[in-house]
Amino acid sequence: MPPILVVPIYFEGRHALLDSLGLRLRRTFGLEPRIRQPWFDPEIPFQPARSQYNSTLLLAQLLRDREDEAERVIGVTAVDLFIPVLTFVFGEAQLGGRAAVVSIHRLRSEAYGLPSDERLLAGRLDKEAVHELGHTYGLVHCDVPDCVMRSSTYVEEIDFKSAEFCPACLAEVRAAR
Ligand SMILES: [Zn+2]
Ligand SMILES: [Zn+2]
Repeated sequence: MPPILVVPIYFEGRHALLDSLGLRLRRTFGLEPRIRQPWFDPEIPFQPARSQYNSTLLLAQLLRDREDEAERVIGVTAVDLFIPVLTFVFGEAQLGGRAAVVSIHRLRSEAYGLPSDERLLAGRLDKEAVHELGHTYGLVHCDVPDCVMRSSTYVEEIDFKSAEFCPACLAEVRAAR
């Protein structure tokens, strides 16, 4: 099984989430997750004026890691991510590239004034990770209602879709590999 590096960034105490994500990556992509501690300064992408982390700069840091011949690298974080034109992003990926990053910050029920729900959170993280990795295999957004590649701006839209690719998207991922 080719490896995928899973890089937790400000993700302390979240072992259960990393474990469930690892199972998902194995099942969906046949990739062997390897936890790798960040080797860069995670404050580099921080933007004090917004109190958020620039996801594009975070991706750039993940891509500088050349020590491992992993098929993919995914950063997983609890801090809030943004790109300059948007208030926030759940994650970002290099289209047809090697790296993706996802944040649980706005996937947590607590972010919406609701009680914490770890199972729901794990499901949302799985979907966002599969979605962003789908972009790395060249997939664009899909209109099939429950396809994981459907675009989601709000967390309710993540809950509506499944963690699976529709048949057309799955065929594209397979072709890309
Ligand atoms: Zn997307
Ligand atoms: Zn699809």
